[in-house]
Amino acid sequence: MALLQIAEPGQSAAPHEHKLAAGIDLGTTNSLVATVRSGVAETLPDEEGRHLLPSVVRYTPEGVVVGEEAKAAAAEDPHNTIASVKRLIGRGVSDLKTLGDRLPYEFVDTDSAVPRIKTVAGPVSAVEVSAEILKVLAARAEKTLGGPLTGVVITVPAYFDDAQRQATKDAARLAGLNVFRLLNEPTAAAVAYGLDRGAEGIHAVYDLGGGTFDISILRLNKGVFEVMATGGDSALGGDDFDRAIAEWIMQQAGIGGDASPQLLRSLMDKAREAKEALAQQDTVEIEVALPGGGQWKGQLDRATMNRLIEPLIRKTISACRRTLRDAGVRPAEIEDVVMVGGSTRTLRVRELVGEFFGTEPLVDIDPDKVVAIGAALQADVLAGNKPEDEMLLLDVIPLSLGIETMGGLVEKIVPRNTTIPVARAQEFTTFKDGQTAMAIHVVQGERELVADNRSLARFELRGIPPMVAGAARIRVTFSVDADGLLHVEAEELSTGVKASVEVKPSYGLTDEEIAGMLQSSIEHAGEDMAARRLTEQKVEAARVVEALRSALATDGDELLDAAERQRVERALHDLQQTADSASDAETIKQAIEQLEKTCEFYVERRMNSNIRKAMAGHKVDEFE
Ligand code: ADP
Ligand code: MG
Repeated sequence: MALLQIAEPGQSAAPHEHKLAAGIDLGTTNSLVATVRSGVAETLPDEEGRHLLPSVVRYTPEGVVVGEEAKAAAAEDPHNTIASVKRLIGRGVSDLKTLGDRLPYEFVDTDSAVPRIKTVAGPVSAVEVSAEILKVLAARAEKTLGGPLTGVVITVPAYFDDAQRQATKDAARLAGLNVFRLLNEPTAAAVAYGLDRGAEGIHAVYDLGGGTFDISILRLNKGVFEVMATGGDSALGGDDFDRAIAEWIMQQAGIGGDASPQLLRSLMDKAREAKEALAQQDTVEIEVALPGGGQWKGQLDRATMNRLIEPLIRKTISACRRTLRDAGVRPAEIEDVVMVGGSTRTLRVRELVGEFFGTEPLVDIDPDKVVAIGAALQADVLAGNKPEDEMLLLDVIPLSLGIETMGGLVEKIVPRNTTIPVARAQEFTTFKDGQTAMAIHVVQGERELVADNRSLARFELRGIPPMVAGAARIRVTFSVDADGLLHVEAEELSTGVKASVEVKPSYGLTDEEIAGMLQSSIEHAGEDMAARRLTEQKVEAARVVEALRSALATDGDELLDAAERQRVERALHDLQQTADSASDAETIKQAIEQLEKTCEFYVERRMNSNIRKAMAGHKVDEFE
């Protein structure tokens, strides 16, 4: 895996000049801002001493309200009070089908790809709502620091795709902020612990929140942080612990499955309170008002809770194991494990994580603040307040990027988990004689066939000079910048004609979809490979047929007598028939070999007569 350094030109400041910068953790539930002052990174409180800003925005006829006050109004004014906007950012109208029933607001009917929420202040997009949160945090930082910010680092989930990352940057721009860069949340956490200043080695970041689990494997190499792999489970978190405990209470209290939604809600609250208390104490009292009147009183001890939630914690451990496998690393090779997210306060989580990695996890920094603190440290470096060589961070792309080749196959150009920024080039060629245009279809995903992957963009390279098939050289370059945005360029090398596309898909993938795509690539690996081999052989056969036809048209009359020509034509016909009807790759391969044997004399004759054309060395590996 190539290790690319991120150059941040022109950003080394004069020693006396300290540039103001901030790190922002733009969270689903809560957001934070942190900065480095006198060499120490810390989160900044509001005037009332609160560090966490609820990520809630309320639109009123008088203006916009953000934070606690907006959150408090959510129940009375749900349509104008927007929470969890992070679930919408970078998503399209088509994503609302899956998100819609979980969101209480009304959406404006629109043909634009971006959904807009109806409020008293007019329709608003997720980008605009997020910008309101960013504005409040930036103002807090500027007030505390006493001057304008030169730039910010904003954290995003490791699984955010191009569209979600771009939308986050758009929100920052709308808030009038200069974004040094976006940073993956788990990566920021590792920085907060200063792992970059320690010995070289491999580290893990374990982030267990309310509803999601993320695991990242990082390598510190020559002072550079590289993210080797990321994984997790987008539907697993502390809420599931609460559910397991709530079910236990129902059993103990003899509450049946017909409990009202209100009772279930209150049971979930009781469960959460009990769980959080058990991080400090060994047992906890629980009281529940029963549906038919009366009360149930009981005790939950830590050992019982541990038994209830253990299977859930084990699921996170399985995800760790898979991600380590992706990174090609054994658990014992992990030096440190950074704990992030409120659910890592549960002691049993710490124990099992420690057991699996064989090391005591790092828990000293508040797991709610650790991401913002890391972002602040990074912002400080990017503002030029640190020596240049100090710390550079690298992230990875979550799904492979590639292009469609003949037969509907995918040629992966940037494999998943490649660190970014990255630029990779590969040369392709024309399939037909005289071909002057080439369609480039950019796809994302792990499967072998285009049809099973996600289409990102299509564009055409025109103006290829007419040449014999396989002679044109078209270099396709994929570059993914530090924020995960993709630029694809195709260039015909003899003339320099170029075409390119910037991929900002109008809607994004959800974590679930990414996880699903990875899962299906594992499940279908066997049949995919068989399908790929078959298609490859069909393409190979078509090529050989095409090349032979072209050769015959050029010099068949000159070099072959009638009987020879008939022999060649029959062999050609046989191969075509086999390629059309065969259902396994081996049969076609043999038919190609048969044809090559039959036509050997012709090829030799052509070479001898110095007309070296299509028949020379033509495996289909011009696709490389
Ligand atoms: P998210 O990133 O999903 O917004 P957080 O990182 O804020 O979530 O974590 C929220 C989760 O942390 C909730 O499930 C909450 O119950 C849990 N949590 C908070 N404090 C504790 C605690 N003391 N013990 C166990 N779990 C806790
Ligand atoms: Mg979190």
